[in-house]
Amino acid sequence: MLAGMLALMGAGLVTGARPASRAVRDLWPGAATVVRGERSLVVGHRVPSAELRDLVSRADRACRTVAEVWGPVRAVLLFPATDAEAATLAGAGATGGLAAMATADRVVVLPTGYARLSAAGRDVVITHELTHVATGATRGGRVPMWLSEGFADYVGYRDAGIAVRAAAAELAEEVCAGVLPSRLPEPADFAPGAPRLAQAYEEAWLACRYIAERFGERALVRLYGSDVGSVLGLSRAELTAAWRDHLRRELA
Ligand SMILES: [Zn+2]
Repeated sequence: MLAGMLALMGAGLVTGARPASRAVRDLWPGAATVVRGERSLVVGHRVPSAELRDLVSRADRACRTVAEVWGPVRAVLLFPATDAEAATLAGAGATGGLAAMATADRVVVLPTGYARLSAAGRDVVITHELTHVATGATRGGRVPMWLSEGFADYVGYRDAGIAVRAAAAELAEEVCAGVLPSRLPEPADFAPGAPRLAQAYEEAWLACRYIAERFGERALVRLYGSDVGSVLGLSRAELTAAWRDHLRRELA
């Protein structure tokens, strides 16, 4: 369930749609509530302040995790009153099922999807999205999507304490039935409404988790913006084969 929500959530990444020209306090004149954390800033619109404080403490924790793996991130999170408002803020069209979206410099919470998540799920989602903000996501297509999404989930799940088979339930079902993916997921596999969208996220996550386990977390970080051959000393085919073995070991 959580995996499904995360998969859908991740699909909403929008780059270049930045409401940055407007200061956060001017988003909702006279109706914004600003909550400052140690490392993050949350701006809410007609959201109970207890919920905003909960979000700011999750965002602070997420910032610490992102900083441990990647480096500092400037965390500005917007918590609007409605999903429609969130879609406008993120410059997104369809947002059905999403819990949060990242723009180039902000995380926008989608109230309906976010409310459906467990506490652990919220932490994973916020960490995932803040990782996108920190890394620049696909950097206009220069970073492969399996790496951008897989890395965000790697950081998101890193300290979540969620079992692999639970987090990758849809993929585990296929692997248990003897079906292994033949290739790393490609951009079309992450398109909203793609038939194996949840599995695409799970495949990407487990590719990054495998790389971090075998080569170290620093190697995974170095791979971001570089290429598999020079960082890992493997061909793409060798990485794919090793990842498929890993999926069989972890999920079958
Ligand atoms: Zn994502």
